[in-house]
Amino acid sequence: MCGVFGAYSETDYVTEEVYLALQALQHRGQESAGIAWIDDRGRVNSHKGMGLVHEALNQDTLSKMTATSAIGHVRYSTAGGSMLQNAQPICANYAQGPVAIAHNGNLTNAGGLRLELEHRGAIFQSTSDTEAILHLVAHQPDKSPFDALACALERAQGAFSLVVLLEEGLVAARDPWGFRPLALGRKGENYYVSSESCAFSLLGATLVRAVEPGEILLINENGLTSRYLRNKPPKRKLCSFEFVYFARPDSVIGGRSVYKARQEMGRRLARSCGKLGGSAGCADFVAYMPDSGTTAGIGYAKESGLPFESAVVRNRYVGRTFIQPTQRVRELGVRVKLSPNGEIFSGKSAILVDDSLVRGTTAGLVVSMIRECNARELHMRISSPPVKFPCYYGIDTPSRGELIAAKLSVEEIAASVGVDSLAYLDKDDMISAIGIPGDELCTACFDGTYLEDQEGSIYCEGPEG
Ligand code: SF4
Repeated sequence: MCGVFGAYSETDYVTEEVYLALQALQHRGQESAGIAWIDDRGRVNSHKGMGLVHEALNQDTLSKMTATSAIGHVRYSTAGGSMLQNAQPICANYAQGPVAIAHNGNLTNAGGLRLELEHRGAIFQSTSDTEAILHLVAHQPDKSPFDALACALERAQGAFSLVVLLEEGLVAARDPWGFRPLALGRKGENYYVSSESCAFSLLGATLVRAVEPGEILLINENGLTSRYLRNKPPKRKLCSFEFVYFARPDSVIGGRSVYKARQEMGRRLARSCGKLGGSAGCADFVAYMPDSGTTAGIGYAKESGLPFESAVVRNRYVGRTFIQPTQRVRELGVRVKLSPNGEIFSGKSAILVDDSLVRGTTAGLVVSMIRECNARELHMRISSPPVKFPCYYGIDTPSRGELIAAKLSVEEIAASVGVDSLAYLDKDDMISAIGIPGDELCTACFDGTYLEDQEGSIYCEGPEG
């Protein structure tokens, strides 16, 4: 998962706005950040660095740049390793002019494209799959950069939500399945494109609409021009996990409030646990795993009528464990990050709501810390179905062997994590809570129904593409 942002203005300098917007998208990637713009001489420039936005980039320097269009990126590694060469935007000044690309998603045919391009003489600077798009553009010198980009994207398979800077203007493009979100915003005459709408409010801009699956937008002095990629898949595949975990709750994706969807997941979970004769009736309170389980926890408490307690405290100055790249950092990170409040848990029976269980590492460590607080009973409720399959579309889920729900039954997971009971949200309930038809959502990590199987061609090359 990464975050991308683009800004276009006729009159205003926008690099500092892009910097601020990247702060709003920080939850989508914490390994590196970068901003690119085209200077007065028509050449592309960039600032990139490792770490959080404020560590990687200098706001003071960026505020002095005189660029009226710019793009930015926050990254965590899915394809390619965690290194500065893979930080984005990826930039080049080629025969037809400057180009800078920031990409969210994974190309499932990146390996094949790379091989083909290397045979044609391309020299890759990074291991990121995004660079293949740049080379595909550069290998069409007879076309305008915008046309070359459109042709390049017709060859890309899998997930891409892109912002691209060309001499012709700011470009936003989304793969025909619409895996990753991309939104268009506006403030006066200025246009913005963002992975999530939460970045617009920070700038005083408003959400106009989603960039449609398969749409390519060109924004320049002529306004907004829209065209579509020629390959039209039979189905849309917006990532359902964006609603479960990734997106910020104040974002709107596909016309649906992430907050409302997440709270509805909690409500439906409470209803289904009640029906199953779960222990909601006898628990003393509902707690949540901050921050990912907060909104679903609120929904659970409202529906069950139980009191809601902030019983697990989160240190806000460390990042999310799920998107940290190594197991060691993940395990240490949990103890640094989360701390149960013994005053609340001691002698009590609690329902603990979280959004998902991936490896089970975080949950197991937090549960053992809660047990040390002498909790009487602990019942875990997960506001999504079991994650049993890896993602090949831009999310760094582990291999199947590391996914706890791929190896163990629900009862075995409860025993392994150390809770008295465990229940998950049903897939149909998750889809109903999101409020988007099921055949327009990707649910592959829950049910293994990959795009490639449904569309009859296996072209997935794995997560390192
Ligand atoms: S496999 Fe899961 S995480 Fe990946 S795009 Fe599909 S729903 Fe999202």
